[in-house]
Amino acid sequence: MSGDVVSIESYTAKAQSAKACDIAIIGTGPVGLFAVFQAGLLGLKCILIDALERPGGQCAELYPEKPIYDIPAYPVISGQKLTDKLMQQIKPFDPEFLYSQQVANLTKRDDGSFELMTTQGISIVAPTVFIAAGAGSFVPRKPKVENLEAFEEKSFFYAVRNRNTFIDRDVVVFGGGDSALDWTLDLLPQVKSLTLVHRRDKFRAAPASIEAMRKAVEDKRLRLVFGQLHGLSGSNEELENISIKTTDGAIEDIAANRALAFFGLSIELGPIADWGLNLNAKLIEVDTEKFETSVPGIFAIGDINTYPGKLKLILSGFHECALAAQAAFKIARPDEKLVFRYTTSSSDLQEKLGVA
Ligand SMILES: Cc1cc2nc3c(=O)[nH]c(=O)nc-3n(C[C@H](O)[C@H](O)[C@H](O)COP(=O)(O)OP(=O)(O)OC[C@H]3O[C@@H](n4cnc5c(N)ncnc54)[C@H](O)[C@@H]3O)c2cc1C
Repeated sequence: MSGDVVSIESYTAKAQSAKACDIAIIGTGPVGLFAVFQAGLLGLKCILIDALERPGGQCAELYPEKPIYDIPAYPVISGQKLTDKLMQQIKPFDPEFLYSQQVANLTKRDDGSFELMTTQGISIVAPTVFIAAGAGSFVPRKPKVENLEAFEEKSFFYAVRNRNTFIDRDVVVFGGGDSALDWTLDLLPQVKSLTLVHRRDKFRAAPASIEAMRKAVEDKRLRLVFGQLHGLSGSNEELENISIKTTDGAIEDIAANRALAFFGLSIELGPIADWGLNLNAKLIEVDTEKFETSVPGIFAIGDINTYPGKLKLILSGFHECALAAQAAFKIARPDEKLVFRYTTSSSDLQEKLGVA
């Protein structure tokens, strides 16, 4: 496999801070989430990593309010509701979630297990890996403005990783969707000042959020400016001024030391392409018995995989979870026997689900 080769010695030093589990799942879309359920029934512990700051993948990011009509036993369910239900269903298995970080590196260790390193420097060691990465990582769209790199992740952010960063600051939030409005309303009581900048007087957020935002503007707790980011200035990674080109062409300067930009997301396959797996048109080739990739122990489930007859549907991904989990059990528990059981009649499974 490509990537850094981790020697036993350097690994031992790192391992003290590494997190361990049976299956490291890359992606918390619907398929990554349901994999936790199938793994949990077999007694396997999962850690999930996602580039985004919340679960749900495409369902939560691209169509939270849209109705889905082809989830078995739900005649209709929205993208967000499906995510909420999956989170409820996997709760008994107590998975650990690592959000707002990509898996940047995946390496095979000498003992046959895998080490995953995230962009936040967290190391996870597991005998099996499930890649449930959909079309790849959702990454924030960046504005085309000079000096951006000087401030990124210091005073110019694309997500709230630590809300203390914004407390008692002069903050500018960019965007007109749910994320922009949710964070505007959330941070408003704790910031020194807040300006919401959007390119036009039309918002794509929940009606209640739009109403609450307009009320805050009316009450003069929030400034609303229509225009686009024009320039950033400051020193030592700290923003001091943000200039906006308003819709009438004027340049308006805002004294601000924090910015939060929600310009939407683009999808990139990212580091997965470098992990030495057999790919076909940016999708990972798998078998249809276990949904295992060309590297034993690494499975690919959901939209990221390809095989003859593949359908990019949530229900196909759910089926793939069940078979991949069975195969992962055999690797993670080589000395134990896998017994097939129904949740309806197995007291053992019911105990795991906390319903016995
Ligand atoms: C508008 C729309 C409507 C749809 N309607 C339907 C429908 O009606 N029925 C249906 O069955 N399907 C529908 N789909 C398709 C369905 O949403 C997908 O099949 C499903 O989301 C795939 O789930 P997944 O878990 O495989 O991947 P995703 O939902 O894409 O989730 C993948 C997750 O992995 C994360 N990720 C990727 N790479 C990394 C990395 N290196 N490190 C960390 N995190 C990473 C991403 O950030 C993302 O959160 C629709 C899709 C769209 C866009």
